[in-house]
Formats: sequence, C-alpha cells, structure tokens
Amino acid sequence: MTAGVPTARQRLLFAAVAIALLALAPPALAAPLALLGATLIDGTGAAPVPNATVIIDGDRIVAAGPGGLVSIPPDAERLDVTGKWLLPGLIDAHMHFFQSGGAYARPDILDLRTVRPYADEVAAVKAATPATLARYLASGITSVVDVGGPLWTFDARAAANATPIAPRVAVSGPLLATYAPAEVTVADPPMIQVATAEQGRAEVRRLLPYRPDLIKIWFVYAGLDIRPQLDWVRAVIAEAHAGGVRVAVHATELRVARAVVEAGADVLVHGIDDEIADAPLLFQMRTLGVIYTPTFAVVEGYNRALGLAFRPTAMETRAGDPAAIRSILSLANLPAAQRPRALRPAPVPPIDPESAANLRRLRDAGGIIAAGSDAGNIGTLHGPGLHREMELMVEAGLTPMEVLVAATKNGAAVMGRADLGTVAAGKLADLLLLDADPLADIRNTTRIYRVLRGGVMHDPAAILATIDR
Ligand SMILES: [Zn+2]
Repeated sequence: MTAGVPTARQRLLFAAVAIALLALAPPALAAPLALLGATLIDGTGAAPVPNATVIIDGDRIVAAGPGGLVSIPPDAERLDVTGKWLLPGLIDAHMHFFQSGGAYARPDILDLRTVRPYADEVAAVKAATPATLARYLASGITSVVDVGGPLWTFDARAAANATPIAPRVAVSGPLLATYAPAEVTVADPPMIQVATAEQGRAEVRRLLPYRPDLIKIWFVYAGLDIRPQLDWVRAVIAEAHAGGVRVAVHATELRVARAVVEAGADVLVHGIDDEIADAPLLFQMRTLGVIYTPTFAVVEGYNRALGLAFRPTAMETRAGDPAAIRSILSLANLPAAQRPRALRPAPVPPIDPESAANLRRLRDAGGIIAAGSDAGNIGTLHGPGLHREMELMVEAGLTPMEVLVAATKNGAAVMGRADLGTVAAGKLADLLLLDADPLADIRNTTRIYRVLRGGVMHDPAAILATIDR
C-alpha cells in the first residue's frame, strides 16, 4: 500500500499540469486505477455499498462493487479512499452559458443597462467561459445542459470538449420562443420569436447543422388562447424529432404542461407552479418517460437578488464567480435614480408550495425527475447553483437519495447519454469523492474531496486557484 501512494498521488493532477501530462502520457496508456474503501452511492438509487472497490481504466469504469467481490488488476495503482463517499459526477440539467448569474444578466427582468451596457455583459460572459467551465468541475459537476442561448453557446460546448478542466456540455442553442424580449435582442440573440408552424420548422432546420443536443421551446404563457402557439410548438417538436433531436419545453402552468406533453415534449423545464398536477397527466408523463426538471434555485435566486437579501453561502464564496457576486451585492448601493422598480427590499419567501407538491406527486407516480439549477440567471451562480437546487429539492420532500439520482442518472437521461450518470462497468469515469455522507445531509455534496472526469482526478481547490479571481 505504501509503495502505491506516490504513484496514486500523481493522479491528483493540478489544472495547469493536467494538460501537459495528458499530452505526454495519454490516459489510455496509464495503469488502471483502483479506488479502495469508499462508500459507493452508484446513482441508481440502490443502497450504498460500504468498503467498495472501483476500477478505472483510461476514461472508463471497468468494475465497481463490494471490496471483496471486485478483483484488482495486478498492475493497478491503488488509492485508499476509506472514509470518503464515492458517487457519479453531478449533472446540472439546466443552465445557461450566456448569463453570468450576476445583476446584469437579464436586462428584460432587471434593467441596469445605464450602469452596464448589455453588449459589455455578453462580451464579459463569453470571455469568462473557460473560468465558468472550471467552476463547474470544481463544484463536482461533470456535465451540464445549456437549455437555451445564442449560437455562440455551441462554441462553449466545443471549448469544453477541448479542455480537461470542464464538464461535458450539452447545448440546445437559441430558444424558440413565444416572445423575445427587446432588451436581450442582439446580433446573436438567445431567443427567437416564432409565430407560425412554417417558421418553427424552418428554425429547427436552421439549428440542426449545429448538432444541438436538444431543441428548447420557451413557452411563456400569456393567459390567452394557447392554440395558435401550440400550432407552431407541435410543428417544432415534429421537425426536431424527425431530425433525431429531443425537445425541452419551458412549462410552468398546468395547461401548458398538459398541452406540450400531448404534443410530444421530451423534457419539461421548471416546475408546474399554478395548479396541482392531475393524475392523468402524471400517469402520461411516466408512461411516455417525460423528464421533469423543477428549478427551485432560480426562483430563490431572483428573490434573493431582487429582494436585496443576497448573502453568499460558503459554497458560493468558494466556487462562485466573484464578479457576479459583487454585482448583486452592489445593488443595495445603487443611487435611487438608477434603481429599477424590480428592486425592493424583501425577505426571501419559502419554496412555492404548488411546485413542491407537484414534485412529490410526480415522484409518487413514478415519474423521472432531473436536477437543474437554471444557473446564469440573476442570483443563481454557475456551479454552486446545483447544490442549492439539491437542497431545495430535499426541502420540497424528496429524499437525499432521490435527489442524488435526479442529479446523476436522470441528468444523463436529459443529455440522452447512456454512458454517464451511474457508477457501473462500461460507464465513463466521471466521479465525485466527498468527505461527508450526502445521504445524511444533502449539503454534504459541497464537501468535495476530489472530482474525476474521464478518469482524470482533480483537486477542486487547485482548479479554483488557477482561475483569475
Ligand atoms: Zn433556463
């Protein structure tokens, strides 16, 4: 064991060194790695396995199970991780690269363009993409799904593919929307307003060459007759499916959710918060395998920021974008003349009871639930946002185990990836090692010892140290 320690420590690649080492010694040629002694939570919801052994060869898991039952290759590097918890890397199934999480991210909601022009904000967000990617990995998040943004978010996916200090990235590209706010309508806009079925089909055909992982529909309910909108929504879903791409739909009202599930939506984004979901809809969602991703964190994030009640948590201070945090804290000091009406001192309300009840009802009905933070919106930070979402899902009534499945296996389902999300032979070795038991307290997902992506181990503190703060 002692002889194995120095070689195993070489696996703890610091961010800058990782790239050089990868170039010198491709992981496929390295000896297998045996992680020994951790409590394994495999992402399927199965009972934790104490004293587990997980064997990694190259970027894949080749064996995982109870210590006595997994044979260790003779040439394997052994790393004793007794006292740690080993789980799949977390997956944030809802985030947006085009938004910083700071105060200037959404001028259609909080208009501070006199303080900072939107073009400057977008340029800064784009430039910060490598740091944003690093923050996710340092937060134990090994995959993210960008559920809507400008065409340049496809470049963010390419950037993630080109560096080991990044999560895996799935991207939807521009949101096909019932309306597009003028405040964010720029040369490469995040939202494209669609009015007809013909236009909807044309927009899908325009996006398909970018190889979107999903098509996103932004269905903002105007309280009117939804039939004209449903007409193009149906056409978009059919065209996307014909192109082999699944569709995620923003649906926060029961009648919108019901209509778009009927129309073939694959993923419902945000919780249903206006009415209690009825049994036939829940049954239909389960039968069709529609994935439900409530986003409690973003609601709280806006309440914290706009209510001038934002106090960064330890996780946000450690891994969040300091510029975004500073911008939100500065809101309290805005001169009265520059203070938008949306800003009003107010306590942060508890989570929405309808959303919480609907989440429990879908769980009870056997539906698929994934965890998504909607990070990038004002007050929801890239990286820490998912940890807060997981906490709020427990607050809503899910067990920590159910939340961990939502943030791993079911996140992989949103990405349409069978090779991610659980700890099993054949899966990619995207893993998280924690210092404390997340089943005892979901907040322990923030106590990250190491994170592995594709079998390469990273120290989160070392990653964060490389980001220009
Ligand atoms: Zn979103």
